[in-house]
Amino acid sequence: MIEVEEHLAAVVALATPVPAEEIPISAAGGRVLAEDLVARLAVPPFDNSAMDGFAVRAADLSLMSPEPVEGIELEVVGDIPAGAAELPPVGPGQAVRIMTGAPLPAGADAVVPVEATDQPLGDVPLPATVRVIEPVSAGRHIRRAGEDVAPGDPVLSAGQVMTPAAVSAAISVGHGSVLVRRRPRVAVLSTGTELVAPGTSPGIGQIPDSNSALLAGLAERFGAEVVLARAVSDEPDEFRRALVEAGGADAVVTSGGVSVGAFEVVRQVTEGQVDFVTVAMQPGKPQGRGMVRVGDGRQVPMLALPGNPVSVFVSAWVFLRPLVARLAGTDAPWRSLRVAVAQGWRTPPGRRQYAPVVFESGAVRSTHRLGSGSHLVASLPAAQGLAVVPAEVDEVAAGDELEVFLID
Ligand code: AMP
Ligand code: MG
Repeated sequence: MIEVEEHLAAVVALATPVPAEEIPISAAGGRVLAEDLVARLAVPPFDNSAMDGFAVRAADLSLMSPEPVEGIELEVVGDIPAGAAELPPVGPGQAVRIMTGAPLPAGADAVVPVEATDQPLGDVPLPATVRVIEPVSAGRHIRRAGEDVAPGDPVLSAGQVMTPAAVSAAISVGHGSVLVRRRPRVAVLSTGTELVAPGTSPGIGQIPDSNSALLAGLAERFGAEVVLARAVSDEPDEFRRALVEAGGADAVVTSGGVSVGAFEVVRQVTEGQVDFVTVAMQPGKPQGRGMVRVGDGRQVPMLALPGNPVSVFVSAWVFLRPLVARLAGTDAPWRSLRVAVAQGWRTPPGRRQYAPVVFESGAVRSTHRLGSGSHLVASLPAAQGLAVVPAEVDEVAAGDELEVFLID
């Protein structure tokens, strides 16, 4: 048996990043950035007001007593809504009404919030004068140009996944298009002569092919484009034809046909190109990885997973996610927490267990009362994490703390 880390390193080492392309920023969501982005614009782009209120000269208010009764009256010489291009300058004894985000006019060095004046809140006509009730110091309620980033500052690095926040940051600093990796193309082949299409009533010994949909959905979630997802019988020639059909894919992931039984089609067809190993994990012990030739003549990474649906689920999170990430030019570090267990379960000795768990008032419990049976697929949708039980532990008790990988 080999450790998870050893197999994972071998899987990831098979992949090189797919090509990059320049695309409009509006289409970049979920893609991986292939260049470092620096700011073209400052954020904020100009000195602007952080409040709805009045732009003033702080010195005009410095004579105000700390316990103001009357306040100080200023002449209102103009109005600056957001987007205004004309900025009336503020002279001594004057103020300009200003809205949040609007540019600060010449002469002003502070903003008095409307709440600190005699003016009502809301959509009211421009007053001729304003009485300031609370003084402000110079610089108050002003957002300075470039205070977040200045032009030339690094903003995002190659390998960054373009989350909504990353897209928004790229736009704010002036980018309209970005260089991103195209989505890695993945072919899913689920092997088993017993498999029937979804919704078909299974005959004796037959089961619905749920792995094709599970793997396709997870691959997409990990950032891939699924170019083929189908069941394949345990006939070697059919599996060979399916590899031809996978032409255009950047990686092939299979389920089933990797154990030591009699009709292990994946093993039979790819032995010699793919290393079949037993990994010290539960579920997911039999695994394979290697390079296979697909229909267009390219050699691409193949990840061979066992057939049991829970094994497929766990193996996809542990091995397919980093493989897709590497193809996309990034890595996929786990996010994990240490969490107490609400209710214990037994685990197999000598192998690290990845148990699907659900959070329950700050603790976790197994999604199924039997712990992590590799066939307990119907309880999987509840899983919010994979609790990692070290190999040397054979029973998890209530109150034990485990590392939980977040998958939700
Ligand atoms: P195998 O690794 O091929 O021996 O498959 C192990 C178990 O997983 C068998 O009981 C299969 O019925 C089940 N299984 C294999 N492939 C699928 C699939 N595509 N969908 C659902 N269950 C499967
Ligand atoms: Mg099989």
